[in-house]
Amino acid sequence: MEDHFPHMIPKHCEVCKKVDGLLRCGACKTYYYCSREHQTADRPTHKTTCKTIKGSKEKIDEEEARLRARAAGDDGLPPNVLEAHGGRLWLWTPARPYLHAMFVHGEMLIRSWRQQGIEDALTLYLSVLQKNTTDNQGVRHHIPALYMRLGRNQEAYDFLKAWGLQFMGRPEASAPDDARPAYQRLKNAHPAEEVDLWTGRFLDLPLVSSVQLVKVRLLIGLQGLLAFRKGLPHGAPVPPARDILADVRGKCCDDIFDRMPEEYADVDLITKKCDDINRQLNELFVAVGKYNKHFWPMMLHPEERDFSTRSHGFLHGSREEAHLAFTCTYSAWCETPMALQTVRASFAAGEE
Ligand SMILES: [Zn+2]
Ligand SMILES: [Zn+2]
Repeated sequence: MEDHFPHMIPKHCEVCKKVDGLLRCGACKTYYYCSREHQTADRPTHKTTCKTIKGSKEKIDEEEARLRARAAGDDGLPPNVLEAHGGRLWLWTPARPYLHAMFVHGEMLIRSWRQQGIEDALTLYLSVLQKNTTDNQGVRHHIPALYMRLGRNQEAYDFLKAWGLQFMGRPEASAPDDARPAYQRLKNAHPAEEVDLWTGRFLDLPLVSSVQLVKVRLLIGLQGLLAFRKGLPHGAPVPPARDILADVRGKCCDDIFDRMPEEYADVDLITKKCDDINRQLNELFVAVGKYNKHFWPMMLHPEERDFSTRSHGFLHGSREEAHLAFTCTYSAWCETPMALQTVRASFAAGEE
């Protein structure tokens, strides 16, 4: 079913798919062409999207100019408000339309389905988070999936863990000698670690769905490594994970295996890790199922693939909350080969 869902389109000419010597559309800066001829040929198709993306970017610039003008006048704002916010820009009410414009532009970039759009949305949302560290806007819900869609699984997991610690009020969320927020500080957390951070009574559902996906990617990658290792003649050198998983590069945590080649070269160790992760995934599915009964049915049977409605002010366990998590993470799940099939299989096994 997920094959009918659009996948992220890499940087290539929109017309002939050539990848060399590309020109970037100067208006939206999101689409690529090999030549002026092909850009002109694609214009009728691209026009509407191009204008939407360009328009939402211009809105940010307008709001920034308005904010700077207000700050320069006598409006209770420091004159250099955009430089001196200290991560608390949201507290200055006149700055909110600017932050909102950034949020909306990110949505437009994500909906381009283009790799360039995904990269730019990630950069933009990380900058929004720096301006508004308490994140009342919820950009954190989108960021892990964006990382994963770009094959940056370790960064996705580090980001998730930092917010998980914060959400659960764990002492590790703050460091006495480092004032940076946890998500900027935490590096190289182990994605095979236990899941107790994510199985409490209240869940930040889009984040938990992203943790599930990191683990599913890890499991699929490990299974790929295991199958390869078992077929390898005795004593033959083991190639790096990135070569073994080349056909799904970036989608199966090969960035993580690359960093720890010894750990992922031992057949017994891989087998044990697969068992561990299977168990953890099971714990996560049980926790999510208890917390919000709408989420997994929505992911597995997404009749309404509506990404244009934004979910706000939802209640714990509600359909709206499930829809938010769906909107933020579904594309990343679909772009992971076998991920939803893996979930479907464990659901079927659980129902027996
Ligand atoms: Zn072309
Ligand atoms: Zn364009």
